[in-house]
Amino acid sequence: MAIKYEKLIPRFLEYAKQNTRSDENSTTIPSTERQTEFLKKLAEELMEIGLSDVKIRKVDSYLTAELPSNLDYDVPVLGLLSHVDTADFNSEDIKPKIVENYDGKSVIKLDEAGKYTLDPAVFASLKNYAGQTLITTSGDTLLGSDDKSGVSEIITAMEYLINHPEIKHGKIKIGFGPDEEIGTGATHFDVKDFGADFAYTVDGGPLGQLEYETFSAAGLKVHITGKDVHPSGAKGIMVNSMLIANEFQSMLPADEVPEKTEGREGFFLLTDETGTIDHTDMAYIIRDFERDGLEARKNKITEIVKALNDKYGADTVKIDMKDQYYNMYEIMKDHMEVVKIAEEAMKNLNIEPDEAPVRGGTDGSTISFMGLPTPNLFAGGENMHGRFEYVSEEAMEKAVDVVLEIIKLNSQKK
Ligand SMILES: [Zn+2]
Repeated sequence: MAIKYEKLIPRFLEYAKQNTRSDENSTTIPSTERQTEFLKKLAEELMEIGLSDVKIRKVDSYLTAELPSNLDYDVPVLGLLSHVDTADFNSEDIKPKIVENYDGKSVIKLDEAGKYTLDPAVFASLKNYAGQTLITTSGDTLLGSDDKSGVSEIITAMEYLINHPEIKHGKIKIGFGPDEEIGTGATHFDVKDFGADFAYTVDGGPLGQLEYETFSAAGLKVHITGKDVHPSGAKGIMVNSMLIANEFQSMLPADEVPEKTEGREGFFLLTDETGTIDHTDMAYIIRDFERDGLEARKNKITEIVKALNDKYGADTVKIDMKDQYYNMYEIMKDHMEVVKIAEEAMKNLNIEPDEAPVRGGTDGSTISFMGLPTPNLFAGGENMHGRFEYVSEEAMEKAVDVVLEIIKLNSQKK
């Protein structure tokens, strides 16, 4: 089968091999130097293919560029965004593997020995890819389709427009940012300098995903102070901080955890816990689709802290609770035309839009709240963030098709 966009896959394979893992313990922007190196290489490539105003912005480390309009009238300025970092999983020496003409039922060996496999009995999504060419990991690393797919697709779409000047389009701004996976990249985003009227992150999963509703999110740190004395004389004196931590957890609704919720249900997730008798630290993430639901969950935490401090003494339990991002729909509901263009583009290409709410956040949640409505489009990847990640060439091509179709529809908004 003829590849419509010749450089799409070679480009993706080259990007995937470069380690751009972010680091949540770093305090620099970007969190890792390897992201800066990658952004510099991309900047050179953007200049080579002929984009204008290519720059890596100091304020947020976003690489931005422009494709000027070739229309003689004004249409809204479209922004296209993706992120260059990869998730918290081994990213050393990534060796993407290509499985041509996959039959939709075979077990794919990732490493030579076959310790890790992609098995349709485990990963049912594989059945959707009969007849397609898959790109997988070789077992030890992630693939980084999240979000090198999005980066490759956006650049390929821009190159296509530059090589086909007969295709009419408005002004397009593109932006590649760092540190999405650690939740900090978009918080610095300079939305004014970017200068788009509406945008999409190309950072979603399988074919058809179109996301404009996300969780509202808060992060919680719990610090519990105990009192450690020798057990022999402990009666009435010892306070075991780990047991208070257990009590804290037991006061949360037992069924409101990710493994027991789905769809529009929220949760409390204990993500980390370290303790001694003297001191225990816990970390939670709190998620809900409704803003008042998030507030109710935060109130629940405050009540538990109060109850425990009443029981064990003031300041036994201290917390640090911060909102992280809000449901993008709060903004998108007033800008549904941005969703409509993407839906129309997909329908024109016979792709069924999948608009299920995201049980997570996207950079677009943060950016939408800065005033730039930014839903999330599929980039094609499956099983993100680990060794079982894969993407099909066909899904990546369709992502480029959708981007170009959105550009075409927007050019008609006279
Ligand atoms: Zn991503």
